[in-house]
Amino acid sequence: MKWDYLIVGAGLSGLVVAERLTNQGFRCKIIDKRSHIGGNAYDKVDDAGVLIHPYGPHYFRTNSQRIVEYLSQFTEWEPVAYEIRSFTQGKYWHFPINLNTFEQWMGRPCTEEEWAVWLNENRVDIADPQNSEEVIVSQVGWEMYRAFFEQYTLKQWKKHPRELAASVCGRIPIRMDRDNRYLQEEFQALPRDGYTQMMEKMIAASPGLEIELGVDFLATRNSWEYEHLIYTGPIDGYFDYSLGALPYRSLRFSFESYSGPELQERQSGKSGHWQPVMQVNYPDSDVPYTRTVEMKHATKQKIDATTVVREFPEDWAPEKEPYYPVPTKESAALYKKYRELADAEKHVSFIGRLGSYRYYNMDQVIGMALMEAQKLLARRKNT
Ligand code: FAD
Ligand code: UDP
Repeated sequence: MKWDYLIVGAGLSGLVVAERLTNQGFRCKIIDKRSHIGGNAYDKVDDAGVLIHPYGPHYFRTNSQRIVEYLSQFTEWEPVAYEIRSFTQGKYWHFPINLNTFEQWMGRPCTEEEWAVWLNENRVDIADPQNSEEVIVSQVGWEMYRAFFEQYTLKQWKKHPRELAASVCGRIPIRMDRDNRYLQEEFQALPRDGYTQMMEKMIAASPGLEIELGVDFLATRNSWEYEHLIYTGPIDGYFDYSLGALPYRSLRFSFESYSGPELQERQSGKSGHWQPVMQVNYPDSDVPYTRTVEMKHATKQKIDATTVVREFPEDWAPEKEPYYPVPTKESAALYKKYRELADAEKHVSFIGRLGSYRYYNMDQVIGMALMEAQKLLARRKNT
């Protein structure tokens, strides 16, 4: 069978591009080496009956109405004000840093004016922050940077914030008001029945789409016939790491479920929950994990059980998942060389978080996949 498009990866990138292309009459096949669809956005009901995000918390957010409309064909939404806390010095702090955090810092009620004065006295004057340390100290100064960012970042990336692009810590807003939401995008919601169900609906709306799981493209690359390949795996892997391996960061997840009297006894803030909010970050260096996530706060599932997922950062190795591209100057330079090789492959598109080696959120990879489909369709029209 010769496919119009062979798509490597059944994550959001692969599924979106497949949905677009099959609806224009093209024959598409997706292969994925994992045993399930959805890539890192996959969610599932665990043995305790709790809907969990096994590959880390996935909070959908976007400023793009176009992407909301696109996904709304496949799901309804459950609006969520994602709230987290940072646990250090023995207590839970409001995070991201805002006026509530400042009051905790000062140990008394404060006004927005006092907060502004304090920031002016403490922030470091850096007009154009060049790295993740500069982007935070230029907003809140050294003390809060050291309390909430420096050690967390070292733990997560095994790199000092000075070595990481400003965009890494720059993802986290700093606020003058009391807005406790973790994220800043206009639209913040979860697919009402979960990501996997949304993606299954996407597949059902992709006429003739074939999906084969448990197949590694790199081990089978000569056995496929296709006009064009859409590759959403790691770009360096596609080229057999010929220019050297790009750096990735991996994670280990540990899962704990609680129910019945054990859970009732805990009564952490909200009944039926193990911790006071959906996510707690641990910036201290003597705690080996970065965060604990109790997704039930966000999904609002009605069940006498809960599951907490603990995230331990790990070095990447070929047998581990490359969860995060590592945004440094060196990795950008190496990626640029791989990009040149990729551009010379006229019958291959490299998209997605790994194919483009970008620390992208779901809405961004969906946007990229929609654009790529449009480009491929325009190319077909012209030939
Ligand atoms: P992936 O989901 O990585 O899918 C790629 C697929 O390709 C995988 O299934 C993989 O098995 C397959 N594959 C790779 N190589 C091969 C091969 N050789 N052969 C066959 N198959 C292969 N985004 C948000 O918007 N909000 C969040 O809160 C959020 N939290 C995150 C938390 C964590 C811990 C992580 C790791 C990511 C998070 N993201 C979040 C980002 C989000 O996961 C990605 O933007 C999105 O899922 C990327 O989709 P993708 O299809 O590009 O890649
Ligand atoms: N960060 C930090 N302290 C925190 C939260 C985040 O230093 O309490 C930094 C850290 O470097 C992290 C980055 O900000 O990798 C982005 O955080 P986010 O929670 O967005 O990471 P993700 O969900 O993508 O893992």
